[in-house]
Amino acid sequence: MYARLRDHYGERRWEPRRDPLGEMVFTVLSQHTSDANAFRTYDSLHRRFPTWEDVARADPGEVATAIKSGGLSQIKAPRIIRILQRIQKERGSLDLSFLDAMPLEEARAWLRALPGVGPKTAACVLLFSFGLPALPVDTHVHRVARRLGLVDGKASAERSQEELESLLAPEQVYQFHVDLITHGRQVCKAPRPRCEACVLNDICPSSTVAHQEAMATVAP
Ligand code: SF4
Repeated sequence: MYARLRDHYGERRWEPRRDPLGEMVFTVLSQHTSDANAFRTYDSLHRRFPTWEDVARADPGEVATAIKSGGLSQIKAPRIIRILQRIQKERGSLDLSFLDAMPLEEARAWLRALPGVGPKTAACVLLFSFGLPALPVDTHVHRVARRLGLVDGKASAERSQEELESLLAPEQVYQFHVDLITHGRQVCKAPRPRCEACVLNDICPSSTVAHQEAMATVAP
């Protein structure tokens, strides 16, 4: 499955997307909204507050106004401020570069101890900013992995993350993550997957192609 998706969507080379704090804030902003909205909101936040120190000492209402277009701003604004303030308190500055020198699980645990930081947010920071083999499980990754039978159908996103990471070599994690998201957006859509156009339709346990072919065979 890994090889077929990689060959179909092309090789991905990891490059850092943004600094670790930026990745953390972006992930909070992207909750329950589209990527396009999250990008717009992130830019709006940066225009209003040029540094993370500015955001950390800002009034939550002003931050909420700056990120209003992304939705749930009254929840996201205090969450972002709390995260930044905790990092400042713990580390004495707003800098997460120290995580790079930590073993993966230690770095993950450190991030997860921050207020409001769940498994997906921690994995986004570790994968996208540091290139560490942590696999964020968003709605697309979760859905496609379940349909492919890679994780238990009832597994939570957190459990699915553990199971998927255990199936992959560290150097495969970034490619697989991006491929599953692309596949979920373009082909294995919710609620109706386009199995007829899927490169995995002969090995996927949820494929509807075999069923459709059988129906065509018995049709008069
Ligand atoms: S065969 Fe269908 S259900 Fe399976 S991964 Fe492809 S699109 Fe999704």
